Amino acid sequence: MDAQQAANKSPTASTIFMLPWVGYGHLSAYLELAKALSTRNFHVYFCSTPVSLASIKPRLIPSCSSIQFVELHLPSSDEFPPHLHTTNGLPAHLVPTIHQAFAAAAQTFEAFLQTLRPHLLIYDSLQPWAPRIASSLNIPAINFFTAGAFAVSHVLRAFHYPDSQFPSSDFVLHSRWKIKNTTAESPTQVKIPKIGEAIGYCLNASRGVILTNSFRELEGKYIDYLSVILKKRVLPIGPLVYQPNQDEEDEDYSRIKNWLDRKEASSTVLVSFGSEFFLSKEETEAIAHGLEQSEANFIWGIRFPKGAKKNAIEEALPEGFLERVGGRAMVVEEWVPQGKILKHGNIGGFVSHCGWNSAMESIMCGVPVIGIPMQVDQPFNAGILEEAGVGVEAKRDSDGKIQRDEVAKLIKEVVVERTREDIRNKLEEINEILRTRREEKLDELATEISLLCKN
Ligand code: UDP
Repeated sequence: MDAQQAANKSPTASTIFMLPWVGYGHLSAYLELAKALSTRNFHVYFCSTPVSLASIKPRLIPSCSSIQFVELHLPSSDEFPPHLHTTNGLPAHLVPTIHQAFAAAAQTFEAFLQTLRPHLLIYDSLQPWAPRIASSLNIPAINFFTAGAFAVSHVLRAFHYPDSQFPSSDFVLHSRWKIKNTTAESPTQVKIPKIGEAIGYCLNASRGVILTNSFRELEGKYIDYLSVILKKRVLPIGPLVYQPNQDEEDEDYSRIKNWLDRKEASSTVLVSFGSEFFLSKEETEAIAHGLEQSEANFIWGIRFPKGAKKNAIEEALPEGFLERVGGRAMVVEEWVPQGKILKHGNIGGFVSHCGWNSAMESIMCGVPVIGIPMQVDQPFNAGILEEAGVGVEAKRDSDGKIQRDEVAKLIKEVVVERTREDIRNKLEEINEILRTRREEKLDELATEISLLCKN
């Protein structure tokens, strides 16, 4: 629906305009926030590109009738047609293009705000122009950042507050930073300083409070650090994750479930590297080796950039791999229903890139993470999961390369030999707390947002 059509529906409740970044993980967390607010008497205009909105539309349930999608059309070209207006599956060479196209949509966004006149804007961390425009129209705006507080703290300290008292040792930070820079060729890596500036601006521009998709038991000291340096309240409202209904019709999941049902409880690992990252041949080989040697069952979702050639999976895997692993493996090309798989009782570990949504989903499902972080915030997320005792990280060698034997060893310990039951126990402990607090936290948030809307 366009902005005028949305305005004609003239809601009576307080209205909130949400503008997430076009990454699937960002949309996902924003949609869960929108759902929580829509069931607490707010009307939400949810703005993104048509292809992004289409990807999350199936997640709207009947009780979400007060969420209205507003389409944001980005400038297109032959190389960057509308079906690529998402970072999900976007080829790496188009990453700078999508950042530029999103920034170029600022005027359209301004027109939306003028037409809809929401009571509040909730904006993401990569569009500093959004709070600027809202302020010029006298619309209060707050930042909801979808990354972890540790990762964001690190960015702030590195780019904006170098002399601040950081609640973590320099050694840990330094070694993680180094890992990241060893793969500095990709466009997302090169853009880090700019991203650091944008994040800093977006946090500072937030009106009094900042929302984070995290929780105190995991990141309390970094949440406090952010509050102190930014001089704002940082409200941890997570984990906000999609909790799919296992029973709904889903052909892809049924096929996986049939296979998984025949395995033993907690005997199988899910392997998935998120919506934006694609393994190199070398990385695929290291992980394949780790899985083969671990002797665990596994479901591996292997993804390629949109437009990749069709026999990519055969070429990517080591020769003879599928024959050797036989019945203990299920390799799925493209998107796996991660939320549903993680909830299945026969999953006992998650080999993950440690994207923040994946980390939150794994915690909520009580599944230990075996982290192989790849880029941007992922090394920090893996570190925090390990520090909190809910995951382990496969350390890289001195050249920054994945150590295949380390991957095998960790999967073996967590899933096959089960010598790391401390992780499962910790997950249970955390989940017990989260279960009782979740709704309470969201009610508190609703009160907070009501006040912002009234002011
Ligand atoms: N996801 C999924 N299937 C896939 C890949 C990703 O369902 O094959 C979902 C996953 O459950 C998570 C999101 O996509 O909700 C990925 O977000 P995350 O922050 O973990 O990583 P990113 O994609 O941003 O790197």
